[in-house]
Amino acid sequence: MIPFLDLQKINLQYAEEIRDAIDRVVRSGVYIRGNENRFFEEEYSNYIGSRYAIGCGNGLNALSLIFKAYKKTGVLDSGDQVIVPANTYIASILSISENGLTPVPVEPDKETFLIDQQKIETSITPRTKAVLIVHLYGQCAYTDKIGDICRKHNLLLIEDNAQAHGCVFKGEKTGSLGHAAAHSFYPSKNLGAMGDGGAVTTDDPIIADTIRTLANYGSEIKNIFQFKGTNSRLDEIQAAVLRVKLKHLEEDNHQRKNIAKQYLKEIKNRNIKLPVVSDFDAHVFHLFPVLCEKREHLMRHLKGKGISTAIHYPIPPHLQESYREWNHLKFPITEYIHSAELSLPISPVLTQSEVEEIISAINNWDE
Ligand SMILES: *Cc1c(COP(=O)(O)O)cnc(C)c1O
Repeated sequence: MIPFLDLQKINLQYAEEIRDAIDRVVRSGVYIRGNENRFFEEEYSNYIGSRYAIGCGNGLNALSLIFKAYKKTGVLDSGDQVIVPANTYIASILSISENGLTPVPVEPDKETFLIDQQKIETSITPRTKAVLIVHLYGQCAYTDKIGDICRKHNLLLIEDNAQAHGCVFKGEKTGSLGHAAAHSFYPSKNLGAMGDGGAVTTDDPIIADTIRTLANYGSEIKNIFQFKGTNSRLDEIQAAVLRVKLKHLEEDNHQRKNIAKQYLKEIKNRNIKLPVVSDFDAHVFHLFPVLCEKREHLMRHLKGKGISTAIHYPIPPHLQESYREWNHLKFPITEYIHSAELSLPISPVLTQSEVEEIISAINNWDE
Protein backbone atom coordinates (compact mmCIF):
# COMPACT_ATOMS: atom_id res chain seq x y z
CA MET A 1 0.00 0.00 0.00
CA ILE A 2 1.23 3.48 -0.88
CA PRO A 3 -0.67 6.03 1.23
CA PHE A 4 -1.33 9.49 -0.21
CA LEU A 5 0.68 11.03 2.61
CA ASP A 6 2.40 9.11 5.41
CA LEU A 7 2.54 11.68 8.20
CA GLN A 8 3.62 9.13 10.74
CA LYS A 9 6.65 8.20 8.66
CA ILE A 10 7.49 11.86 8.08
CA ASN A 11 7.49 12.70 11.79
CA LEU A 12 9.16 9.46 12.90
CA GLN A 13 12.26 10.54 10.93
CA TYR A 14 12.75 13.21 13.58
CA ALA A 15 11.23 11.33 16.54
CA GLU A 16 14.25 11.75 18.79
CA GLU A 17 14.63 15.48 18.17
CA ILE A 18 10.88 16.03 18.53
CA ARG A 19 10.82 14.13 21.83
CA ASP A 20 13.67 16.28 23.14
CA ALA A 21 11.91 19.46 22.02
CA ILE A 22 8.62 18.51 23.69
CA ASP A 23 10.46 17.45 26.81
CA ARG A 24 12.10 20.89 26.93
CA VAL A 25 8.63 22.47 26.95
CA VAL A 26 7.31 20.09 29.60
CA ARG A 27 10.21 20.95 31.87
CA SER A 28 10.06 24.71 31.19
CA GLY A 29 6.72 25.27 32.93
CA VAL A 30 5.80 27.85 30.25
CA TYR A 31 3.22 26.60 27.76
CA ILE A 32 2.03 29.77 26.01
CA ARG A 33 4.10 32.69 24.69
CA GLY A 34 7.44 31.45 25.98
CA ASN A 35 10.91 30.93 24.60
CA GLU A 36 9.94 28.36 21.98
CA ASN A 37 7.63 30.91 20.33
CA ARG A 38 10.22 33.64 20.58
CA PHE A 39 12.94 31.48 19.01
CA PHE A 40 10.64 30.01 16.37
CA GLU A 41 9.47 33.48 15.32
CA GLU A 42 13.09 34.59 15.05
CA GLU A 43 14.17 31.50 13.11
CA TYR A 44 11.16 31.55 10.81
CA SER A 45 11.41 35.25 9.97
CA ASN A 46 15.11 34.72 9.20
CA TYR A 47 14.24 31.78 6.98
CA ILE A 48 11.53 33.67 5.09
CA GLY A 49 13.52 36.89 4.94
CA SER A 50 10.92 39.09 6.59
CA ARG A 51 11.50 41.47 9.52
CA TYR A 52 8.75 39.93 11.66
CA ALA A 53 7.03 36.60 12.16
CA ILE A 54 4.10 36.30 14.54
CA GLY A 55 2.94 32.84 15.58
CA CYS A 56 -0.81 32.23 15.76
CA GLY A 57 -3.36 29.43 16.05
CA ASN A 58 -3.68 28.27 12.43
CA GLY A 59 -3.49 29.36 8.80
CA LEU A 60 -7.03 30.74 8.59
CA ASN A 61 -6.39 32.86 11.69
CA ALA A 62 -3.15 34.13 10.13
CA LEU A 63 -5.00 35.27 7.00
CA SER A 64 -7.84 36.74 8.98
CA LEU A 65 -5.57 38.59 11.41
CA ILE A 66 -3.83 40.28 8.47
CA PHE A 67 -7.10 41.70 7.13
CA LYS A 68 -8.27 42.61 10.64
CA ALA A 69 -5.02 44.49 11.30
CA TYR A 70 -5.32 46.47 8.07
CA LYS A 71 -8.86 47.41 9.09
CA LYS A 72 -7.83 48.46 12.60
CA THR A 73 -5.06 50.63 11.18
CA GLY A 74 -7.48 52.30 8.76
CA VAL A 75 -5.92 50.93 5.57
CA LEU A 76 -8.95 48.77 4.75
CA ASP A 77 -12.61 49.52 5.35
CA SER A 78 -15.74 47.33 5.43
CA GLY A 79 -16.99 46.57 1.94
CA ASP A 80 -13.60 47.03 0.28
CA GLN A 81 -12.96 44.52 -2.48
CA VAL A 82 -10.18 41.97 -2.28
CA ILE A 83 -9.18 40.09 -5.43
CA VAL A 84 -8.58 36.38 -4.80
CA PRO A 85 -8.16 33.33 -7.06
CA ALA A 86 -11.46 31.53 -7.74
CA ASN A 87 -9.64 28.18 -7.39
CA THR A 88 -8.27 28.08 -3.90
CA TYR A 89 -8.92 26.37 -0.61
CA ILE A 90 -11.97 27.92 1.05
CA ALA A 91 -9.86 29.42 3.88
CA SER A 92 -8.37 32.09 1.60
CA ILE A 93 -11.85 33.36 0.77
CA LEU A 94 -13.31 32.96 4.28
CA SER A 95 -10.63 35.24 5.71
CA ILE A 96 -11.88 38.05 3.49
CA SER A 97 -15.60 37.47 4.14
CA GLU A 98 -14.98 37.10 7.87
CA ASN A 99 -13.70 40.67 8.04
CA GLY A 100 -16.62 42.30 6.27
CA LEU A 101 -14.59 42.71 3.08
CA THR A 102 -15.80 41.60 -0.34
CA PRO A 103 -13.92 38.75 -2.03
CA VAL A 104 -13.73 39.14 -5.83
CA PRO A 105 -12.87 35.75 -7.36
CA VAL A 106 -10.64 35.80 -10.43
CA GLU A 107 -9.91 32.91 -12.80
CA PRO A 108 -6.52 31.16 -12.81
CA ASP A 109 -4.22 30.50 -15.71
CA LYS A 110 -5.08 27.02 -16.98
CA GLU A 111 -1.46 25.93 -17.35
CA THR A 112 -0.14 26.94 -13.91
CA PHE A 113 -3.41 26.91 -11.89
CA LEU A 114 -2.26 30.26 -10.46
CA ILE A 115 -4.22 33.52 -10.51
CA ASP A 116 -4.20 35.09 -13.99
CA GLN A 117 -2.27 38.37 -13.81
CA GLN A 118 -4.14 39.83 -16.81
CA LYS A 119 -7.48 39.17 -15.15
CA ILE A 120 -6.36 40.82 -11.93
CA GLU A 121 -6.01 44.10 -13.76
CA THR A 122 -9.37 43.86 -15.54
CA SER A 123 -11.12 43.05 -12.23
CA ILE A 124 -9.96 46.23 -10.49
CA THR A 125 -12.71 48.72 -9.55
CA PRO A 126 -12.57 51.92 -7.45
CA ARG A 127 -13.40 49.74 -4.40
CA THR A 128 -10.53 47.29 -4.93
CA LYS A 129 -8.03 47.68 -2.10
CA ALA A 130 -6.09 44.43 -1.96
CA VAL A 131 -5.01 41.32 -3.85
CA LEU A 132 -4.64 37.99 -2.04
CA ILE A 133 -2.43 35.68 -4.09
CA VAL A 134 -2.27 31.97 -3.23
CA HIS A 135 0.87 29.95 -3.94
CA LEU A 136 -1.33 27.01 -4.82
CA TYR A 137 0.04 23.45 -4.75
CA GLY A 138 3.39 24.95 -3.66
CA GLN A 139 4.08 27.07 -6.75
CA CYS A 140 4.86 30.78 -6.61
CA ALA A 141 1.89 32.89 -7.77
CA TYR A 142 3.79 36.19 -7.60
CA THR A 143 5.00 37.78 -10.82
CA ASP A 144 6.75 41.11 -11.42
CA LYS A 145 3.63 42.20 -13.26
CA ILE A 146 1.42 41.50 -10.22
CA GLY A 147 3.83 43.60 -8.14
CA ASP A 148 3.58 46.40 -10.72
CA ILE A 149 -0.23 46.25 -10.85
CA CYS A 150 -0.45 46.51 -7.05
CA ARG A 151 1.93 49.46 -6.91
CA LYS A 152 0.22 51.24 -9.82
CA HIS A 153 -3.25 50.92 -8.27
CA ASN A 154 -2.07 51.32 -4.68
CA LEU A 155 -3.31 47.89 -3.63
CA LEU A 156 -2.17 45.80 -0.69
CA LEU A 157 -0.53 42.56 -1.78
CA ILE A 158 -1.17 39.70 0.63
CA GLU A 159 0.23 36.18 0.20
CA ASP A 160 -1.41 32.92 1.24
CA ASN A 161 1.74 30.86 1.77
CA ALA A 162 0.01 27.90 3.44
CA GLN A 163 1.23 25.49 0.75
CA ALA A 164 4.59 26.99 -0.19
CA HIS A 165 7.08 27.17 2.71
CA GLY A 166 10.53 27.44 1.16
CA CYS A 167 9.41 28.46 -2.32
CA VAL A 168 11.79 30.99 -3.94
CA PHE A 169 11.04 33.72 -6.49
CA LYS A 170 14.18 35.32 -7.98
CA GLY A 171 16.18 34.69 -4.84
CA GLU A 172 13.46 35.73 -2.38
CA LYS A 173 11.14 33.46 -0.47
CA THR A 174 7.40 33.56 -0.88
CA GLY A 175 6.06 35.07 2.31
CA SER A 176 8.39 38.05 1.85
CA LEU A 177 7.11 39.28 -1.52
CA GLY A 178 4.03 41.28 -0.51
CA HIS A 179 2.93 43.50 2.39
CA ALA A 180 2.09 40.53 4.63
CA ALA A 181 1.80 36.77 4.31
CA ALA A 182 -0.09 34.01 6.07
CA HIS A 183 1.42 30.59 6.77
CA SER A 184 -0.30 27.42 7.96
CA PHE A 185 1.50 24.65 9.83
CA TYR A 186 -1.36 22.17 9.57
CA PRO A 187 0.30 18.72 9.88
CA SER A 188 0.13 17.88 6.16
CA LYS A 189 1.79 21.10 4.94
CA ASN A 190 5.46 21.15 3.85
CA LEU A 191 6.29 22.63 7.25
CA GLY A 192 3.80 20.80 9.44
CA ALA A 193 3.29 20.85 13.19
CA MET A 194 1.77 18.03 15.25
CA GLY A 195 -1.50 19.87 15.61
CA ASP A 196 -2.68 23.30 14.48
CA GLY A 197 -0.37 26.25 13.97
CA GLY A 198 0.10 29.33 11.84
CA ALA A 199 2.11 32.53 11.44
CA VAL A 200 2.07 35.91 9.78
CA THR A 201 5.21 37.39 8.24
CA THR A 202 5.60 41.06 7.38
CA ASP A 203 8.19 43.86 7.26
CA ASP A 204 5.71 46.40 8.63
CA PRO A 205 6.25 47.06 12.36
CA ILE A 206 2.78 48.56 12.83
CA ILE A 207 1.01 45.58 11.25
CA ALA A 208 3.22 43.17 13.21
CA ASP A 209 2.36 44.90 16.51
CA THR A 210 -1.31 45.16 15.68
CA ILE A 211 -1.51 41.44 14.82
CA ARG A 212 0.31 40.48 18.01
CA THR A 213 -2.15 42.58 20.01
CA LEU A 214 -5.26 41.40 18.13
CA ALA A 215 -4.25 37.76 18.59
CA ASN A 216 -3.93 38.32 22.35
CA TYR A 217 -7.51 39.52 23.02
CA GLY A 218 -6.60 42.97 21.73
CA SER A 219 -4.22 43.50 24.61
CA GLU A 220 -0.61 44.62 24.46
CA ILE A 221 -0.30 45.65 28.09
CA LYS A 222 -1.79 43.19 30.57
CA ASN A 223 -5.45 43.92 31.35
CA ILE A 224 -5.59 46.87 28.95
CA PHE A 225 -7.74 46.02 25.91
CA GLN A 226 -7.12 48.27 22.97
CA PHE A 227 -9.16 46.31 20.40
CA LYS A 228 -11.96 43.78 20.43
CA GLY A 229 -9.40 41.09 19.71
CA THR A 230 -9.38 37.34 19.63
CA ASN A 231 -7.34 34.47 21.05
CA SER A 232 -5.04 32.92 18.48
CA ARG A 233 -1.67 31.80 19.78
CA LEU A 234 0.88 29.22 18.71
CA ASP A 235 1.31 26.60 21.45
CA GLU A 236 4.81 26.28 22.89
CA ILE A 237 4.77 22.56 22.08
CA GLN A 238 3.92 23.26 18.43
CA ALA A 239 6.58 26.00 18.24
CA ALA A 240 9.15 23.53 19.62
CA VAL A 241 8.14 20.88 17.05
CA LEU A 242 8.26 23.45 14.25
CA ARG A 243 11.79 24.51 15.23
CA VAL A 244 12.89 20.90 14.66
CA LYS A 245 10.98 20.56 11.40
CA LEU A 246 12.21 23.90 10.05
CA LYS A 247 15.80 22.61 10.22
CA HIS A 248 14.86 19.80 7.83
CA LEU A 249 12.55 21.75 5.50
CA GLU A 250 15.12 22.44 2.78
CA GLU A 251 16.11 18.79 2.54
CA ASP A 252 12.43 17.71 2.61
CA ASN A 253 11.56 20.13 -0.19
CA HIS A 254 14.55 18.88 -2.16
CA GLN A 255 13.16 15.32 -1.97
CA ARG A 256 9.76 16.53 -3.18
CA LYS A 257 11.43 18.29 -6.11
CA ASN A 258 13.34 15.18 -7.15
CA ILE A 259 10.14 13.14 -7.17
CA ALA A 260 8.35 15.83 -9.19
CA LYS A 261 11.17 15.87 -11.74
CA GLN A 262 10.94 12.13 -12.11
CA TYR A 263 7.15 12.25 -12.52
CA LEU A 264 7.48 14.99 -15.14
CA LYS A 265 10.10 13.03 -17.05
CA GLU A 266 8.69 9.54 -16.85
CA ILE A 267 4.90 9.75 -16.73
CA LYS A 268 3.71 9.21 -20.26
CA ASN A 269 0.02 8.71 -20.81
CA ARG A 270 -1.97 10.65 -23.38
CA ASN A 271 -4.99 10.77 -21.06
CA ILE A 272 -3.08 12.63 -18.39
CA LYS A 273 -1.90 16.21 -18.46
CA LEU A 274 1.13 16.93 -16.31
CA PRO A 275 1.52 20.26 -14.50
CA VAL A 276 3.57 23.01 -16.16
CA VAL A 277 6.65 23.98 -14.15
CA SER A 278 8.84 26.75 -15.51
CA ASP A 279 11.10 27.36 -12.52
CA PHE A 280 11.99 24.60 -10.07
CA ASP A 281 13.13 27.14 -7.44
CA ALA A 282 9.63 28.64 -7.48
CA HIS A 283 7.87 25.38 -6.61
CA VAL A 284 8.03 23.25 -3.46
CA PHE A 285 5.55 20.60 -4.64
CA HIS A 286 3.22 20.62 -1.68
CA LEU A 287 1.08 18.66 -4.13
CA PHE A 288 1.62 17.12 -7.54
CA PRO A 289 -1.60 17.78 -9.48
CA VAL A 290 -2.33 16.10 -12.79
CA LEU A 291 -5.40 16.69 -14.94
CA CYS A 292 -7.39 13.76 -16.19
CA GLU A 293 -10.89 13.90 -17.64
CA LYS A 294 -11.63 10.41 -16.38
CA ARG A 295 -10.06 10.94 -12.99
CA GLU A 296 -12.52 8.67 -11.16
CA HIS A 297 -11.39 5.79 -13.42
CA LEU A 298 -7.75 6.64 -12.89
CA MET A 299 -8.27 6.95 -9.16
CA ARG A 300 -9.94 3.53 -9.04
CA HIS A 301 -7.22 1.98 -11.21
CA LEU A 302 -4.51 3.30 -8.89
CA LYS A 303 -6.46 2.25 -5.80
CA GLY A 304 -6.59 -1.27 -7.29
CA LYS A 305 -2.78 -1.19 -7.45
CA GLY A 306 -2.62 -0.09 -3.81
CA ILE A 307 -1.90 3.59 -4.56
CA SER A 308 -3.92 6.30 -2.82
CA THR A 309 -4.53 9.66 -4.48
CA ALA A 310 -6.55 12.75 -3.50
CA ILE A 311 -8.51 15.58 -5.14
CA HIS A 312 -7.64 19.24 -4.47
CA TYR A 313 -10.42 20.24 -4.54
CA PRO A 314 -13.58 18.54 -5.76
CA ILE A 315 -15.89 21.59 -5.54
CA PRO A 316 -14.71 25.18 -6.11
CA PRO A 317 -15.67 27.83 -3.52
CA HIS A 318 -18.19 29.59 -5.80
CA LEU A 319 -20.25 26.37 -6.08
CA GLN A 320 -20.33 25.68 -2.35
CA GLU A 321 -23.48 26.08 -0.30
CA SER A 322 -21.66 28.52 1.99
CA TYR A 323 -21.26 30.88 -1.02
CA ARG A 324 -24.83 30.49 -2.28
CA GLU A 325 -24.72 34.08 -3.56
CA TRP A 326 -22.05 33.00 -6.08
CA ASN A 327 -23.62 29.73 -7.21
CA HIS A 328 -24.94 31.33 -10.43
CA LEU A 329 -21.48 32.64 -11.43
CA LYS A 330 -19.43 30.86 -14.07
CA PHE A 331 -15.69 30.32 -13.79
CA PRO A 332 -15.02 27.78 -16.56
CA ILE A 333 -11.28 27.36 -16.02
CA THR A 334 -11.73 26.94 -12.27
CA GLU A 335 -14.57 24.49 -12.83
CA TYR A 336 -12.50 22.51 -15.31
CA ILE A 337 -9.53 22.26 -12.93
CA HIS A 338 -11.77 21.18 -10.07
CA SER A 339 -13.43 18.55 -12.26
CA ALA A 340 -10.20 17.00 -13.56
CA GLU A 341 -7.54 17.49 -10.86
CA LEU A 342 -5.97 14.47 -9.20
CA SER A 343 -3.04 14.72 -6.76
CA LEU A 344 -0.43 11.96 -6.87
CA PRO A 345 1.47 10.97 -3.73
CA ILE A 346 4.49 13.22 -3.17
CA SER A 347 6.38 13.55 0.08
CA PRO A 348 9.90 13.47 1.48
CA VAL A 349 9.45 9.86 2.62
CA LEU A 350 8.17 8.34 -0.62
CA THR A 351 10.80 5.77 -1.66
CA GLN A 352 12.35 5.38 -5.10
CA SER A 353 10.62 2.02 -5.62
CA GLU A 354 7.25 3.55 -4.65
CA VAL A 355 7.78 6.38 -7.14
CA GLU A 356 8.56 3.83 -9.85
CA GLU A 357 5.50 1.79 -8.91
CA ILE A 358 3.28 4.89 -9.23
CA ILE A 359 4.79 5.86 -12.58
CA SER A 360 4.38 2.39 -14.01
CA ALA A 361 0.78 2.08 -12.74
CA ILE A 362 -0.07 5.38 -14.47
CA ASN A 363 1.75 4.56 -17.69
CA ASN A 364 -0.05 1.23 -17.88
CA TRP A 365 -3.48 2.76 -17.44
CA ASP A 366 -5.65 2.73 -20.50
CA GLU A 367 -8.98 4.42 -19.88
C1 LIG B 1 -4.27 24.80 4.62
C2 LIG B 1 -4.60 26.06 3.96
C3 LIG B 1 -5.13 27.16 4.66
C4 LIG B 1 -5.61 27.09 6.08
O1 LIG B 1 -4.72 26.65 7.01
P1 LIG B 1 -5.25 26.03 8.40
O2 LIG B 1 -4.03 25.98 9.22
O3 LIG B 1 -5.86 24.71 8.11
O4 LIG B 1 -6.26 27.00 8.96
C5 LIG B 1 -5.29 28.35 3.98
N1 LIG B 1 -5.02 28.45 2.67
C6 LIG B 1 -4.55 27.42 1.96
C7 LIG B 1 -4.25 27.61 0.51
C8 LIG B 1 -4.35 26.18 2.56
O5 LIG B 1 -3.90 25.16 1.83
